Amino acid sequence: MFKPNRSNQGKKAVVVVGAGLGGMAAALRLACAGHRVEVWEKNAAPGGKLQERREAGFRWDLGPSLLTMPHVLDALFATAGEKREDWLTLERLPSACRYFWGDGTTLDEDAPFWARPDVARFLAHAEGIDALSGEAFLHYPPAEFWRAFTWRNLAHLRHLPKVMNCRTLEEEIARHIADPKVRQLFARFATYNGSHPARTPATFSIIPYIEARYGAWYVRGGMAAIGAAVHRLAEARGVRFRFGTEARSWRKEGGEHLVEDGAGTASRFDAVICNQDVLQASQGWLRAAFAEREKAALLRPALSTSALVVTLGLARRLPHIGHHSIFFSSDYAAEFAALFDRKTLPEEPTVYLASTCRTDPADAPPGGENVFLLVNAPAASALSPAETEAYVARVCAALPGRFPRLALPDLWREAIPGTRQIFTPADFARRDGSRGGALYGWASHSLRTAFLRPPISRRGVARLHFVGGTTHPGGGIPLVLLSANMVAERVDF
Ligand SMILES: Cc1cc2nc3c(=O)[nH]c(=O)nc-3n(C[C@H](O)[C@H](O)[C@H](O)COP(=O)(O)OP(=O)(O)OC[C@H]3O[C@@H](n4cnc5c(N)ncnc54)[C@H](O)[C@@H]3O)c2cc1C
Repeated sequence: MFKPNRSNQGKKAVVVVGAGLGGMAAALRLACAGHRVEVWEKNAAPGGKLQERREAGFRWDLGPSLLTMPHVLDALFATAGEKREDWLTLERLPSACRYFWGDGTTLDEDAPFWARPDVARFLAHAEGIDALSGEAFLHYPPAEFWRAFTWRNLAHLRHLPKVMNCRTLEEEIARHIADPKVRQLFARFATYNGSHPARTPATFSIIPYIEARYGAWYVRGGMAAIGAAVHRLAEARGVRFRFGTEARSWRKEGGEHLVEDGAGTASRFDAVICNQDVLQASQGWLRAAFAEREKAALLRPALSTSALVVTLGLARRLPHIGHHSIFFSSDYAAEFAALFDRKTLPEEPTVYLASTCRTDPADAPPGGENVFLLVNAPAASALSPAETEAYVARVCAALPGRFPRLALPDLWREAIPGTRQIFTPADFARRDGSRGGALYGWASHSLRTAFLRPPISRRGVARLHFVGGTTHPGGGIPLVLLSANMVAERVDF
C-alpha cells in the first residue's frame, strides 16, 4: 500500500526511525530548521535506553545513571529557543562515585581525588589529548576532522605523540599512576563505552578527564526525565511521533526514500535518519542500503558489553554507600577475560550500585533505598531466566563476604517482594533493537572501531543518515546528542 507523505509547502519530509535520545534530538533540530519530521518508534514510549521503573513507592532508572557535559544538553534546548533549566533540574554530584575494595579501602571520586598529584598528572596528559583532538572528534565526522584545525590551534600539535601511539588505556594509566587501586579505578572508564581496558586505545584517557572537568550530574526526577523533556519539546516544535511503529524495510526510488512500517504501509520521505543500532538495522530494515560484504564487515568487530541490570527496593538504608558505588573485583583482568574472551559472566564481578534516593529522596519510601545494580555482561549471552536469577542471587550473596567491613546485607534476599527485577542482554536486544543487547555497538578495541565507527552518513545513498550510540562519535548521553548535531547539520537538501 502506498501513502503519499510529501509536503507541498516547500518543507522537506524527514523520518527518524527510533525515539532514542539521539533520534529525538536530531528530529528536534530538523524541526527547528523548518522541516517536517516524523519519528517512528517501535515501542510504546520515547527515550530508548532512557527508561525507568516504578514499583511499591520506589523509582529506578533502568539505563544511564550519570550525566556529564551538561552543556551539550543545554545547547539542544537553546536550539529550540528554550532554557534547559526551565525543563530539567540538574544537580552536580559532589562525588561522582564511591569505590570500594575488599580490603576495606574506599575512594571517593571528588575534588580532593582529582587534585591528588598522580591523578592530576594523568589528567594533565589527558587534557593535551582533548586540546588536540576533542573538538575534531566530538563535532565532526572523521572525514571532516581537518575542519577543527586552524592556525590558531597549531600549538596543540605538540600533543600529537599523546594521540599517535599504540598504547592502550591500561598502559597509559600505568605510565602515570603507581597505586594499583587507582589504576583499576581509571581502567574502569573503558567500560563507559563497553570496552576492555587493555584493548582500548590510550586516547580514551579523555573519558575521566571529561568527567573531572565537566562533573557528574543527576537529573531531578530521574535520568528518564531527559528523554521525556526532549520528547515534549520536539512535539511542541511540530515533530510527529508515531509509537508502536516499526520500520520494516527501506528502498530508494528516484530521489525519494520509501520506508515501510509493520502494517505494510510505505511512506515517502526526502531523508531518513536511523536511530537504531547500525549493526542491527543494516541486517534488518535497511539491508537494501548495504552490500553483502559491508554487512559482513559491520558484524566482524567485537561487540561492546551488555549488562545485567537489577532493581531492588530495600526497607532500610545501606551504610557507607554513595549515590553511585562500585564494588571492585579482586581480579580485574580475569573479569575482562571472562567478558571478552570466554564471553561468559565473570565469577566475581565488579558490581555497580546506584541509589538515587541519596540525592532525590522521592525515589524511595522514607527510610528505604532504591538499589540499581549493574554487572557487565557479554553481549549476545543467552542465559535462561533461571540461570540469570541464580547468578544475580549468587553475586548478591557473595558481596557481604567480599566487603566484610561494609556490613552489607544479601541485597537480593532482603529486597521487598515485587521490587526485584532483572534485565538481561536479551531484554536490551529486544527493547532497543540492538545487536546482542550490546550497549554501544562495536567495542572500542582498535583505532578503527574507536574512531572510524559506522559513519553518520551512508556513502552513495543521498540523505540516509545514522544517529546514536553505535555511530560517530559513540555512546553515552552527550555523545549521542553530538551525533544528532552532526547529522542535523548534514542532511543536505
Ligand atoms: C544500563 C545502561 C546504563 C548506561 N549508563 C550510562 C550513563 O551512566 N551515562 C551515559 O551517558 N550513558 C549511559 N548509557 C548509554 C546511553 O543510555 C545511550 O548511549 C543512549 O541513551 C543511546 O541513545 P541512542 O540515541 O543511541 O538511542 P537508543 O536508546 O538506542 O534508542 C533507539 C530507539 O530506536 C528504536 N528502534 C529500534 N529499531 C527500530 C525500528 N526498526 N523501528 C522503529 N524504532 C526502532 C528502539 O526501540 C529505541 O527506542 C547507558 C545505557 C544503558 C542501557
